[in-house]
Amino acid sequence: MKINGHTKIAGLIGNPIAHSLSYTLHNAALEALGIDARYLPFPSPDTSSLKNLVSMMRTSGFVGANVTIPHKENIIPLLDSIDRNAQRIGAVNTITKQLDGTLLGKNSDAEGFLLSLKNASIQYTNRNVFLIGAGGAARAVAMILAPHVASITIWNRTPAKAQKLLSELRKKGFPNNISLSFCGDPSAYPLPPKSILIQCTPLGKEDEMPPHPQLDKSHTVIDLLYQYTPLLQQSHALGAQIQDGSSMLIHQAAISFSWWFSVPPPIEIMYRSLHKQRKIV
Ligand code: NAP
Repeated sequence: MKINGHTKIAGLIGNPIAHSLSYTLHNAALEALGIDARYLPFPSPDTSSLKNLVSMMRTSGFVGANVTIPHKENIIPLLDSIDRNAQRIGAVNTITKQLDGTLLGKNSDAEGFLLSLKNASIQYTNRNVFLIGAGGAARAVAMILAPHVASITIWNRTPAKAQKLLSELRKKGFPNNISLSFCGDPSAYPLPPKSILIQCTPLGKEDEMPPHPQLDKSHTVIDLLYQYTPLLQQSHALGAQIQDGSSMLIHQAAISFSWWFSVPPPIEIMYRSLHKQRKIV
């Protein structure tokens, strides 16, 4: 695809972002639909670079951007408005530029996560859920699951952030009488049979095992990272049902894409590009 003076820009803001597969997904969809736009990386290691990027988005040919670790929460005060869904979650993963040039914060993580469960026929109603992490992704997962599940227990490296999320969930008062609790030491936590464990931190490199309760084959283990992480490998060996983050990645990307370009992307092409890229990586 050729770049010209009218080519629109979307991209990914965060740090680290070089490893992301979002470039592959979005650019494959843009090319397939013949849309004159590119999805590019915008590394942002700190708040001052984040502020500069937001200013740049206001003046250039940006249609919007995705926001990832570590900025999903601290982007909020830099934007002009936040829609109700992102406000409820307390995190923004998508910025859309409005016709009047203002920047609106939205969230496609929650819906993308739910679609990934539905696609894999993972039942979540009335199950017990254990979350590792309390950042933007964990917030999205907790808020979308809370009205449906029996309980949510959260561990986070910074306990105050887990407590804050739990207290926000308590204030919402869900009709299903959900039990909400904090876990200080996952290794000592007796995870009930048939629970769903959802890993929402970046801990998943070759030698990285996030703190987690003892697992068995009755559990479902979901890692939001889109690799076959050590946690997924161990869970699979125990006979547990497992899922990585690639389906969520595609679904949240597809939702963001349609917000920016007012047309749904070809999901099949996104899937194919992801699998092709994974073989190369
Ligand atoms: P975030 O808002 O910045 O939150 C990061 C979370 O990870 C926080 O709970 C943080 O704990 C924890 N964390 C970071 N480094 C850690 C470490 N060394 N040890 C223990 N905990 C650590 O980021 P996010 O958006 O929630 O993303 C979290 C992960 O999920 C990322 O790796 C991201 O790529 C992945 N993700 C995947 C998808 C998908 O579509 N598959 C979607 C969203 C996110 P503290 O609160 O203590 O800092």
